Amino acid sequence: MREIVIPDDNLSDEQALAKALQKLSLHIQKSPLAVIDWDNNFCVVAWNPAAEKIFGYSTEQAIGQHASFIIPGELHAQVDGVWKELLSNHGGTRSTNKNVTKEGVVISCEWYNTPITDQSGRVVSVSSLVQDITEQVNYVNALEFQAHHDSLTKLYNRDWLIQFVNDSIINRPDQNFCLFFVDLDRFKEINDSLGHNIGDAMLVILSQRLASAFHYEEYKVVRLGGDEFALLTADCNINSISHQLISALKEPVELAGIKLIVGAGIGIARYPLHGCDAVSLMRCADIAVYSAKENNSEYVEYSKSIDNSSPARLMLMNDLRTAIDTDQLVLYFQPKIDVKNRHCSGYEVLLRWQHPVYGLVLPDNFIPFAEITDLIHPLTMWVIENTLLQCELWAKQGLNYNVSINLSPCNLLDDLLPEKLAVLLDSYDVEASSIELEITENALMKDPQTALTNLNRLNDLGVLISIDDFGTGYSSLSYLRKMPLHKLKIDRTFVFEMDSNDEDKIIVESTINLAHNLGLKVVAEGVESLSVLTLLEEAGCDEAQGFYISRPLPVDSLAGSHLMSRVDICNS
Ligand code: C2E
Ligand code: CA
Ligand code: CA
Repeated sequence: MREIVIPDDNLSDEQALAKALQKLSLHIQKSPLAVIDWDNNFCVVAWNPAAEKIFGYSTEQAIGQHASFIIPGELHAQVDGVWKELLSNHGGTRSTNKNVTKEGVVISCEWYNTPITDQSGRVVSVSSLVQDITEQVNYVNALEFQAHHDSLTKLYNRDWLIQFVNDSIINRPDQNFCLFFVDLDRFKEINDSLGHNIGDAMLVILSQRLASAFHYEEYKVVRLGGDEFALLTADCNINSISHQLISALKEPVELAGIKLIVGAGIGIARYPLHGCDAVSLMRCADIAVYSAKENNSEYVEYSKSIDNSSPARLMLMNDLRTAIDTDQLVLYFQPKIDVKNRHCSGYEVLLRWQHPVYGLVLPDNFIPFAEITDLIHPLTMWVIENTLLQCELWAKQGLNYNVSINLSPCNLLDDLLPEKLAVLLDSYDVEASSIELEITENALMKDPQTALTNLNRLNDLGVLISIDDFGTGYSSLSYLRKMPLHKLKIDRTFVFEMDSNDEDKIIVESTINLAHNLGLKVVAEGVESLSVLTLLEEAGCDEAQGFYISRPLPVDSLAGSHLMSRVDICNS
């Protein structure tokens, strides 16, 4: 642009005015802000180069145009209001508005409007300074989107849910709404066996299904994390919404040529009935989900009767996921002895959790929880793999023990278990016949057909199978005859007092006889005294396990004198 040179001599008033105007004009020409003047019909009378650049109209095209030419159509109705405010507010206004360029691109602009009045105080024109802030606005929007949405599925995230529920309750405390939590079944397994890419792709597909099934404004679909979703709605018809959720999820997902079928558990909490803030409502929905999974129900509404979990327990359960990945789990080994020669015949592997805050946690405090979530599968695989690792170490030292591993009922119903076990047996230098799997009677009762199929597949791998806690379930010995079993473990409740309780003694003795008739070896657990061990020997029991022989011990303590001296005591 041409430089304007202004002489600096003594100037007349007129010259000084001309000089000031020139200077102002220079500023306007060079300003990065759009400078626009409007007449009192809100039509353009001045339009600088920055305005040309921002809005795309040349000065010739802009002069005389009504303001609506740079305002998006849907906002035209508001133009009159803006103009009236400007005419009445002589102090000027500042606002951030949506504008539209000549190319039809919607941009965000910051407007500073100053009304110009005549001597009588009447507004004769308006002068505007405009800055294009589209980039900043987009950046802030992107940050906000990131903070409130899940990056994989683009659904709202947990933080958004908490904020939205709390704000909504503060703004309209007398409303009613329902919070649905959805937890997919077997997702962890799919992720572990088919890889994270397939797992992620499946989550995206299911998210899209949920989003399209509930695309109206009144529904908000949220990904809480992992395989957990939530639906928030003022529509409290829980039966119909639960069925809609189920039917959106139950269609198989086809990925990499495989059809994957996922079920889900649904838990429901109502505002204000079950809680008055986001966190308490989410806790109730969480408890309801677990209850749904535990009882194999499709959906469960929260009620006090299903709420037996203390906050400490819930916190512990959240940590279990991390525990598996960070090796906080520890294997303990409880020796079993041959009742006749009193030598150590093998070990039962019992899981412990070395929690960073609570210390050593016993399995009864976390296995039942793992069983109602998908965690039981990675947890069992962890136990199997680490047991095989230990057996391989022992084998290298020439020690070949028979080691038994506990399976949960859901493990036995898992069609993938035999394959996974086969892979692990191949990877470690351990004889399959030295591994024993302990299953409980109720594992066989839930879905006998699947259980039997999987038992046969496990048996084909060459591992031994024993029935654990025998006597506490409902199965009869003749029913067990159809199963490929090797051992029977009499539950400790019949054993530990058999020296003082005749009824228990008779049950133990007849169980041993019947089991032997079926070709099964018998292990008695819960042996807490020498007198019980002696009675077991008289009854022909094969193996014994219990505190009298040894408590479960970490592997480092096994080789120590404790176990040896105990076995010696038994021998004496
Ligand atoms: P279980 O399979 O019946 O295991 C035997 C339990 O009895 C163990 O408790 C053991 O410490 C205890 N016990 C052993 N001898 C005696 C005795 O003489 N007297 C008494 N009163 N108790 C004795 P623990 O280690 O607390 O395990 C409890 C249950 O947790 C186990 O019962 C088993 O069902 C489950 N569990 C442990 N480890 C695993 C695992 O790796 N996977 C699965 N699915 N379940 C496991
Ligand atoms: Ca057991
Ligand atoms: Ca047992």
